[in-house]
Amino acid sequence: MRNNKNNILRQFPSMQTILKNPEVVRLTESFSYEFIKERLGDLIKLKKNEILNTIDSNDESGIPYDYYITVEFFTAKLKEDLSDFSFSLKRVINGTGVVVHTNLGRSILSKGAVDNISKISSSYSNLEFNLAEGERGKRYSHIEYLLKKIIKCEKAIVVNNNAAAVFMALSSFCSGRKKEVIVSRGELVEIGGSFRIPDIMRASGAVLVEVGATNKTRPEDYESNINENTALLLKVHQSNFRMIGFVHELSSKDIVSIGKKYRIPVMEDLGSGSFINLSRFGLPCEPTAQEVVNAGMDVVTFSGDKLLGGPQAGIIAGKKKYIDMLATNPLNRAFRIDKMTIASLEATLFEYLDMENAVKKIPTLSLIAQSEQDIKKKAKKFLNKLKKFEWKNKNLYNFKILEDLSIVGGGALPDYGLKTYALSITHKTMSADNLSKIFRGLNIPIIGKIKNAEFLLDMRTVLDIDFKDILYGLSIIDI
Ligand SMILES: *Cc1c(COP(=O)(O)O)cnc(C)c1O
Repeated sequence: MRNNKNNILRQFPSMQTILKNPEVVRLTESFSYEFIKERLGDLIKLKKNEILNTIDSNDESGIPYDYYITVEFFTAKLKEDLSDFSFSLKRVINGTGVVVHTNLGRSILSKGAVDNISKISSSYSNLEFNLAEGERGKRYSHIEYLLKKIIKCEKAIVVNNNAAAVFMALSSFCSGRKKEVIVSRGELVEIGGSFRIPDIMRASGAVLVEVGATNKTRPEDYESNINENTALLLKVHQSNFRMIGFVHELSSKDIVSIGKKYRIPVMEDLGSGSFINLSRFGLPCEPTAQEVVNAGMDVVTFSGDKLLGGPQAGIIAGKKKYIDMLATNPLNRAFRIDKMTIASLEATLFEYLDMENAVKKIPTLSLIAQSEQDIKKKAKKFLNKLKKFEWKNKNLYNFKILEDLSIVGGGALPDYGLKTYALSITHKTMSADNLSKIFRGLNIPIIGKIKNAEFLLDMRTVLDIDFKDILYGLSIIDI
């Protein structure tokens, strides 16, 4: 009786038999034995259930069960299953034109940074070892010397990210003492992903004293709220929004002079924290870390992976007295950075010893620095490749180059568009939404933007190495 359930189960090859098949053995070169066993177990279970849940002796296509319950069948199934396997975190192609895109991993690291991560993490290192003295050393020494040189600050430390930097600083200045921090109402910002200045303050134990109005804050607003509990004057970079019209904020210098007058420390959360004046790229001016330290801010914090173009990190630079105090906070241990971050940050900072070199070597800066002409050339080059490349469904697509605007992202210059060129991809029957979904589903997902019901790939953030993968992606789309 072929469709007797027990009889069918007995005909299944054993897991051990399948695992001994030379073709399966070969798979262990690419995947661990345990992983292969687990996937195979799932495949066998799935097939068993499928067969047991149908009573007939054939499946719907009329193929008899004998065909399925062979070593060859499961070997082929397993190979197919594993060839589709990819890690959850994968490379994607950024056609959004947002250079520092938080959802797409912010900054691309420089080659120097990537090589250094690989070198340092594949062997032992002097992470916390003083080679001259032969005794315990400091993990931050590898980056502090560069930060001091570039920013001209007295001291610097680095923690996991800028949110941690702000939190740790507030907790050091205020914790447990009901100490107050004065912030302008115009700077009580939310930086996506649940970083809100008022929430961070509450969590750190600081008491928030909001001063001024949303659009205008004057020196008197700070001064009239200073009392014996005031621990800090905080300036926060507005980052991801811009107020226009009837507005006034105090400059870093203004805050510094109020702090001096009342002998209260001052801190600025710079957010993006560039080392390079963006006006050289034709962008509006954003204060650099050097300028803010030079203005006399006691403590300045900023991200490592926004405009700086390095790894995720929160850099804290400023006066020795305060940085030393922050360094003793137990949170400094909790928020400490890994050797891979140090390796990559040291290599990134090293490029900044020569600013011209930094613009060439650090992808975030070079992507921003691309001229309209460069991008147009890149777009045309790619359009030519597309025209020459033949694939089955080519006649269903239409391509053209459009002028567009890209944005810096990472909370910098929210209202400023950089002139760019985008490749518009349209399909005879599919909507831009559908195209966008299909492109996202590719093995190397392609993320674009939709504008006027057209699917666009902004050529500013599409890299030369992406071209061949976009062509391949197009060629395997079945519609
Ligand atoms: C981005 C940003 C932060 C958070 O920085 P992370 O490095 O993402 O933790 C904090 N403050 C400002 C003003 C920012 O722009």
